[in-house]
Amino acid sequence: MEHIYDTIIIGGGPAGLSAGLYASRSRMDTLIIERAKFGGQATTTDELDNYPGSIEECTGTTLSKRMKQQAEEFGTQFVKEEVVEVELEGDIKVIKCKKETYKAKTIIIATGAYPRLGGFKNEIELRGKGVSYCATCDADFFTDLDIAVLGGGDSALSEAIYLAKFGESVTVIHRRDELRGAKSLQEKAFKNPKIKFIWDTVVQEAKGEEILEGLVLKNVKTGELSDLKVDGCFVFVGYLPISELFKGMINMTERGDVITDEEMRTNIPGVYAAGDIREKLLRQVITAAADGAIAATHAEHYIEEKFN
Ligand code: NAP
Repeated sequence: MEHIYDTIIIGGGPAGLSAGLYASRSRMDTLIIERAKFGGQATTTDELDNYPGSIEECTGTTLSKRMKQQAEEFGTQFVKEEVVEVELEGDIKVIKCKKETYKAKTIIIATGAYPRLGGFKNEIELRGKGVSYCATCDADFFTDLDIAVLGGGDSALSEAIYLAKFGESVTVIHRRDELRGAKSLQEKAFKNPKIKFIWDTVVQEAKGEEILEGLVLKNVKTGELSDLKVDGCFVFVGYLPISELFKGMINMTERGDVITDEEMRTNIPGVYAAGDIREKLLRQVITAAADGAIAATHAEHYIEEKFN
């Protein structure tokens, strides 16, 4: 007989893992499908000092491992697969992956987001050759070298602080003269003698063929161009939702953020969304985890009403 899960969670980041924990803890037959790395974007964060309780050293990877183990101990099953097609309208939802097809009474979409490109010339060509989107993955390559960080949000600031532990210098390049990131991170970055700021400036071009040799910067107020010699350029200019698969089925914003109500319900009965894929103000590990818990709880209520 074909297996029908109570819930299938697509995505194994903090939202998905938390949904897995809550679902399996309430005895739901639960499967998490993840195509890449369990823990998602949180694993690219070195310091999680704003996750309540993480007062001792707690990296995104450590926390994600603990979250996965906890969900597993309550019975969540995991599979490494890439979802290629979904059928969400019927009472039984169908999730087609590259290797297998899975079915469930409810679906929780927790596919998260991916880093936006900086949009400068030669960026793609030099990706992995000096241009990076993940400090925890690549910082070590730039030990004692000069690093640029692009962006002015929480990611740019927290990663600049992390990168300063490795590099000789870290130059944060921001397109305005005011940062978007949290005040506490701003203070930490301003105090760090290795970190300096270039304001009102964007990167126009990455120079180099085999390896990054420097950046051409453009002052957005004066139009003036200048060269900055750096060995690494880390781009942190925000994230976009991974929601392509659900376009035309699930209500979303123009950017692709999935629209839910407070119970994480999408427009399709039995289909929920949690974490960074949702349209919301605050995208943090704690809000992703909370979304996952809420989605799983409401999925359980839905099953009770619909199937029992
Ligand atoms: P974000 O808050 O959207 O900030 C993106 C930054 O990049 C902004 O400063 C923006 O400039 C700049 N930017 C956007 N497009 C650009 C372009 N084409 N060229 C140059 N600069 C550009 O993104 P984020 O910092 O990745 O944060 C995303 C979410 O994760 C936020 O909700 C954040 O709070 C959360 N987060 C939290 C933590 C933490 O709490 N420790 C750490 C990381 C991320 P403008 O300011 O001019 O728009």
